[in-house]
Amino acid sequence: MKLSELEDFLLSNNEKKFRATQIIDWLYVKRVNSFSEMTNLSKELISKLNDNFYFDKLEIIKKQEDKDVSKFLFKLSDNNLIEAVLMNHDYGNSLCVSSQVGCNMGCKFCESGRLKKIRNLETSEMVEQILMIEKEIGKRISHVVVMGIGEPFDNFDNLVSFIEIINLQKGINLGSRHITVSTCGIVPKIYEFSKLPYQVNLAISLHSAFDDKRSKIMPINKVYPLKDVIDAVKKYFSVTGRRITFEYILLEGINNSIEDAKELCKLVKGLNCYINLIPYNEGSSMGFKRPKNDEIMKFYDIIKKEGINVTVRREFGSNISAACGQLRSKKEE
Ligand code: SAH
Repeated sequence: MKLSELEDFLLSNNEKKFRATQIIDWLYVKRVNSFSEMTNLSKELISKLNDNFYFDKLEIIKKQEDKDVSKFLFKLSDNNLIEAVLMNHDYGNSLCVSSQVGCNMGCKFCESGRLKKIRNLETSEMVEQILMIEKEIGKRISHVVVMGIGEPFDNFDNLVSFIEIINLQKGINLGSRHITVSTCGIVPKIYEFSKLPYQVNLAISLHSAFDDKRSKIMPINKVYPLKDVIDAVKKYFSVTGRRITFEYILLEGINNSIEDAKELCKLVKGLNCYINLIPYNEGSSMGFKRPKNDEIMKFYDIIKKEGINVTVRREFGSNISAACGQLRSKKEE
């Protein structure tokens, strides 16, 4: 529950509004595991809380580690499984959280979509990924990226509540500039997202600057083609003033030619953006290949020479299938 929702609950149950901040302090700062531990609340309030809410912990059922990265497999209370990935950077550590069980977007190169969406994650299940991993590692997480399993803009309301809860200063207090949401390009939600009062970063999975090619690898492009995405990005920038990130996966022989790079430059020229190149991480049997390093650098150089900000995403965790596009939901182990 967001602070305002908790306050409404309290008021309609004849309790004082300020109790909400006390409860939030117990949950997210002191991190207790039951209402009875909330010693500054009355017995009546504790029993009202027990009657209306419960602590639904996720269960970490597997942890795999590789250099600078750990992957956590969570079991949800309905036995669905999701994954989250923790990465150590020199600037802190960042957690890649999932937003859905499965995914309906059907991007051809992504393992996460091999299981169609079973359901959205609840806000609490997204928040719990952070709390449980912080408990497990005994450290604070400094950055959160919503880039795990699922399309966050296909679970928009819970995503927004999640952002509000983890951003709350009196709670988990994750700075909004330390939070990034990535979408495959659900255009109406980009407009909605730009109206939110948080300074959260937005990344868009572009992957081709040609409509026909993009439609082949990302079916969402048939609904929201490039022109609509770029119009939404322009609006996003005019409303928020924030730079946008374009993610561009590099698939050998598909979208990594010189023409592809030039068209990409043409498409983003003049936008306040930066391009994050993601060399394809090989999945089980998707039939795509990762370009060789010199090919990757050739693509990078063309963009760089145009004066566009560009980086190649550092690869994490491909040995434990924890890299971009390798996370998978499962029904059961
Ligand atoms: N659904 C959101 C969140 C996923 S973010 C989105 O589409 O943006 C994960 C990023 O990794 C996306 O840019 C996605 O396109 C990319 N990705 C998916 N599969 C990949 C793979 N096999 N190798 C590299 N990147 C991949």
